[in-house]
Formats: sequence, structure tokens, C-alpha cells
Amino acid sequence: MSAITVFLSGATGFVAQHLIKQLLTKGYKVIGSVRSTEKGEALKKNLNSEDFEYVIISDIQTKGAFNDVLKSHPEITIVLHTASPLSFNVTDPEKDFLIPAVEGTKNALNAVIEFAPQVTSFVLTSSYASIFTRSKERDNTATFDESSWNDITWEQSKENLLTGYLGSKTFAEKAAWEIIETKKPSFNFCTINPACIFGPQAFDSEVKETMNASVEILHRLIKLKSTDPVPAHAAGFIDVRDVAAAHIVAFENKEADSKRLILSDKRFSSQGLLDIINENFPTLKGKLPIGNPGTSDEHTKVLAAINNELTKKILGFKFISLEKSVIDTVEQILSVKEK
Ligand code: NAP
Repeated sequence: MSAITVFLSGATGFVAQHLIKQLLTKGYKVIGSVRSTEKGEALKKNLNSEDFEYVIISDIQTKGAFNDVLKSHPEITIVLHTASPLSFNVTDPEKDFLIPAVEGTKNALNAVIEFAPQVTSFVLTSSYASIFTRSKERDNTATFDESSWNDITWEQSKENLLTGYLGSKTFAEKAAWEIIETKKPSFNFCTINPACIFGPQAFDSEVKETMNASVEILHRLIKLKSTDPVPAHAAGFIDVRDVAAAHIVAFENKEADSKRLILSDKRFSSQGLLDIINENFPTLKGKLPIGNPGTSDEHTKVLAAINNELTKKILGFKFISLEKSVIDTVEQILSVKEK
């Protein structure tokens, strides 16, 4: 049997690079979209596989952005739409987050519906951002599950860059379900809704002065001085290797059809992250804030509960622990910096 061909948007992303590696290991062929030839060549060199090729889609929000690749590759039967803006080095929540995320998602889905009738599965990388509502996230009597929706409005999303990102994922996912419900395409559709993603980069060359948005949360902690206060941050966590694996289950396991999969292992706080780093990296001893070790639960117990039992049943694998994820992430950053 010839290999199944997967199209993946945003191939240079933190999640996407792991996803491509796992797909290639499982024997899939992958066509990934990147924004420039330079980025495509660098990725191809790192992946070092005949089964990976790239196409250029410089901006997913351009009308018809996905039409050419789907018209010219009738062998594509699986589509994974991971591309979405996640850099906070921007200024305008609507122009830089909301519009590209929503239009990019509509463009990808509509192109598959119009030009790729052979496609059997479409997986959208959404986010826990489209599940939780901010006003209830710090209410520990609240529970979010796969049926929960962020109630943020477009106007509220425009308030700042963070709300812009949260709204971008919410409105992009809503737009996707609306297309699925109105056009009723024949392919299976599933969304992946990860919490904050940590874990090592797929390649050491991706360890940079500033990392992708979620790993930068960890990276910033190891740039602190011992006299700095512990940042007051607490959220849900999942490892990048599990996020990649879940995208594959999302199209391999028919039970995932029409589901939203919440990827969240446990809650973390900056204190908890620092505890793990301080305990496991003797070379950083005395250089980072200590805070109040062992009190992470105090910071996380105020947060809403996340019930993702349905997701875990469909995925059928155990999530990588926060401790392993943090250790692997920091180990890679330190080893690259030492070189
Ligand atoms: P990332 O490293 O920033 O990757 C995003 C990818 O999308 C990059 O390849 C980027 O290309 C591409 N992209 C962004 N805007 C684009 C545009 N207008 N046109 C074409 N390509 C564009 O982020 P990630 O962490 O891997 O995230 C991947 C997906 O997971 C996203 O959908 C994100 O919302 C979702 N997610 C991430 C987290 C997390 O904690 N990281 C949590 C929940 C959900 P360039 O780099 O070339 O700009």
C-alpha cells in the first residue's frame, strides 16, 4: 500500500515540527506549508527525509491561500491546520491575531471542501483558549470540559494582545464548526484544544534568544535573578510531544470525529516550575528565585477544574508529566547555550 499523504499548515511551528517528525516515523508522507523558501529549506535539512516536502503559503489569511496546494496534490487525504499567529511581538489584536486566525481557518476548510473531495480527515489545532472563559478561570467551583466555550466577544478580544490571542482561537474554531455544520462535508473533523505547551524543541537549532511563546514562559524563568520576585502565573500544561501525538490519534481513531480534545495534564504555577528547575539543575543553584518551595498548590487550587476524561479515553495514552517536560525543556536550552 502506498503511503498516506498528510498536508500540514504552519510546518515551521513548535508543535508542527514534532508532529512532522512523528508522522514521518509512522510512515506518512508530509507536505508542509511554510512562509518562505529559506524557512522551508532549513526545515527540510533538519528533517532530512525524502518523505517531506514543503510549499510556500506566505499568509494563510490571503483569500484562496490553500487552493493551489490542494488542487495540485490530489494525493493529500489528511489535512492538519496548525498555522495560527502566536507571536506577541505585534501591536494590533484584530489585525495581527483575530483576522489571520479566522480567515486562515476558513480558507483552509473551504479549500478542502472545494478542491479536495478525497480528503477523509481535517484536524484543526485550536486551544484551551476557546474552552475557558477568563472570568471563571479563577473560580475553583467552575469546571470546564469538552463542551465548554469561551464567551469572549469580538469587541472584548480587541482590548489587548492577550485577549486578541484568546479571541482569535475562539472565533477561528467557531468559524470552523459553523462551516462543518452548514456545509456538512464528508470528511471527519476534530479540534485539538491544548493548554500551555512546554517541552523541548524538535531540533536544537530552534533554541533561540527568544523562543516560541509558550516555552518562553519557562525560558524567562531561567533568565531571572535570585533577587527577582516569583512571577504570579498559573495555568494548565501539556507536553508538545503529546500534542503532536494527539493530532495523529485525531485522524487515526474514528472515535475522535466531531470531537474537541482538551489536552491538559495538570495545572502549574511559576513557583512549581521554579521548584522543578531548582531541584534538578545544580548549575543554576543560587542564580534563580527560590520563592516558597512546595507551595505551588496554593497558586493552582484557586483555578477552575478541567474535566477532559472524554479526551483521555479517546487518546488512550498517558500524558508526559510536568516534571519531565520542564526538565527536558530546560536541559535542551542549557545544553545549546553551553555549546
Ligand atoms: P508557533 O511556533 O508560533 O507556530 C505557529 C506557526 O504558524 C508558524 O509556523 C508560523 O509561521 C505560522 N503562522 C502564523 N501566522 C501565519 C500566517 N498569517 N500565515 C502563515 N503562517 C502563519 O506556535 P505553536 O506553539 O507551534 O502553535 C501551533 C498551534 O497550536 C497554533 O494554532 C496555536 O494557536 C496552537 N496552540 C499553541 C499553544 C502553545 O502553548 N504553544 C497552546 C494552545 C494552542 P512563522 O513562524 O513563519 O511566522
